[in-house]
Amino acid sequence: MLSPNTLSKGKKFTLVVLGILILGFLSARFFLPTLLDKKFNSVLNDAPYMVTEQGAKLYDSLDFIADLHSDVLLWSRDINKEHDFGHEDIPRMLKAKVSLQAFTMVNKVPYGLNFDKNTADSDQLTIPFILQGRPIKSWFDLTERVVVQSAELEQFARLSNGKLRVIKFKQDFEQYLVDRKNNKNITAGFLGIEGAQALKGDMKNLDIVYAAGVRMIGLTHFYDNAVGGSAHGVNKGGITEFGKKLVLEMEKRKIFVDLSHASEQLVDDVLSFAKRPILISHTGVKATCDNIRNLSDKHLKQIAATGGLVGIAMFKQAICGTKPMDIAKAIKYTVDLIGANHVALGSDFDGAIASVFDVTGLPQIVDALLKLSVSEQDIALIMGENVKRVLLESLPDKE
Ligand SMILES: [Zn+2]
Repeated sequence: MLSPNTLSKGKKFTLVVLGILILGFLSARFFLPTLLDKKFNSVLNDAPYMVTEQGAKLYDSLDFIADLHSDVLLWSRDINKEHDFGHEDIPRMLKAKVSLQAFTMVNKVPYGLNFDKNTADSDQLTIPFILQGRPIKSWFDLTERVVVQSAELEQFARLSNGKLRVIKFKQDFEQYLVDRKNNKNITAGFLGIEGAQALKGDMKNLDIVYAAGVRMIGLTHFYDNAVGGSAHGVNKGGITEFGKKLVLEMEKRKIFVDLSHASEQLVDDVLSFAKRPILISHTGVKATCDNIRNLSDKHLKQIAATGGLVGIAMFKQAICGTKPMDIAKAIKYTVDLIGANHVALGSDFDGAIASVFDVTGLPQIVDALLKLSVSEQDIALIMGENVKRVLLESLPDKE
């Protein structure tokens, strides 16, 4: 039996332990998310970025600069403020004159992430979502993870003093282009999903993410899911029955299909029946960097034939290099193979990668493309005009 004295000692001990736990949780809550953000989203070359006079002049003359892939919403970064870490935020996007960014939402990442073989058994994002103080419903639910990130982008737009717009419909985009003619100090984004596991194999969840504003869905991310095989999955198989239904339904609603990270078989399967332009939001090409996530010449040609776009990524594993010229070489190869009308930027900014530069380094791509004798007209297409054209043609009309 415990004496009253022991009990109060026991209580004190419990209180001290509880205090330590609360302090530990609070410091993890307030410091860890930013530490992780800084650690995972490094740059290979620091700003400021040198550009030739010719490159700077051409870059400044570009009317529309667009990028097809950024995971910045995954981190608890206030994108309305300028940061000295990570790859982008609204102030830096405006400095770089970025006109449109696809904000792609990561929703599950297995532990032990690798390029060759991942299972769906574990989830690295639960703890960060808790520590970031995100709504409880998003801690364990992949659809909710998309819904809360979408709502965060809307909230950033509301707090941006008109500097950021979220594009959902063709009419939003047309209005944005009109407004941009008089004010270049505004930017815009549209929402994508990285990995259709966010739909949990249930078509009803397509309604939910569409209502949240999602207009592009990457069918797979790092593991095989209910839609089909990932390039980094265990079976790397083709499309499932559910996957086929999903693609048809996405096409009906004018949601872009993104085949980044798809297994070769899945790319083949989707290309065999898809009718609308396919986007590859972030990739490299096998010809300049031969690995499992990069596209073969055959697939590049087939994607161009859908009227789609290939976004070239800006990290080492995609381009097998660390310099702007390595990005430019992948772009130039793709342009020579499928034509400048089908090539775009697909940085993968803030996608837990070491990026060649932050967003303010984009003019260095123009410089490198000029060195490779890509024409000014083609550079304008690659840097954004293609994305503008395809979105104008393919975004859904306002209901
Ligand atoms: Zn990715």
